Amino acid sequence: MAVVYLSLGSNEGDRQVTIQKALVGIEAACGRIAAQSSIYETAAWGLEEQPNFLNMAVKIETTLTPIALLDALQQIEAELHRQRVVRWGQRTIDIDIILYDSELIEMPRLQVPHPRARLRRFVLVPMAEIAPEMIFPGTNESIAEMLEHCPDNLAVHKIA
Ligand code: ADP
Ligand code: MG
Repeated sequence: MAVVYLSLGSNEGDRQVTIQKALVGIEAACGRIAAQSSIYETAAWGLEEQPNFLNMAVKIETTLTPIALLDALQQIEAELHRQRVVRWGQRTIDIDIILYDSELIEMPRLQVPHPRARLRRFVLVPMAEIAPEMIFPGTNESIAEMLEHCPDNLAVHKIA
């Protein structure tokens, strides 16, 4: 069983409902949710002229390989009507694999740890709530330390 951390984000439609549906889909297709953060509201990163996001982090236990997990998550994204229009643009749901055990994965379709996680407060703040001591493979830094050093200063507010 692999222990995996996922980051979820939504900034289109009924964001809370979409996130709940994604969690149901993750439990059904990927494995048990062992921990989940609060939901946070954050300003959009990258392309800033778009609605605010809701973001959260979850810890799951899965028997899927990394690529099979990515396929399953992309299937859930498709079912929730995500349209890939522009990179970093508005989306009903985005599900990223942040950590997969302590594996370092460098494939064209999949890089783990997620290469931009350490730059994004909206990933690190929810992760720090459920796994502050977790060390990122390939570094000596915990999530809490990465958050202290994160250059991003977009507001991330707990809402639920
Ligand atoms: P972003 O999440 O950076 O806003 P997208 O969700 O549009 O962008 O993802 C683009 C591509 O990123 C996906 O097609 C997927 O193959 C790739 N990808 C690479 N590493 C990961 C990862 N760790 N988790 C999820 N997707 C990833
Ligand atoms: Mg993504």
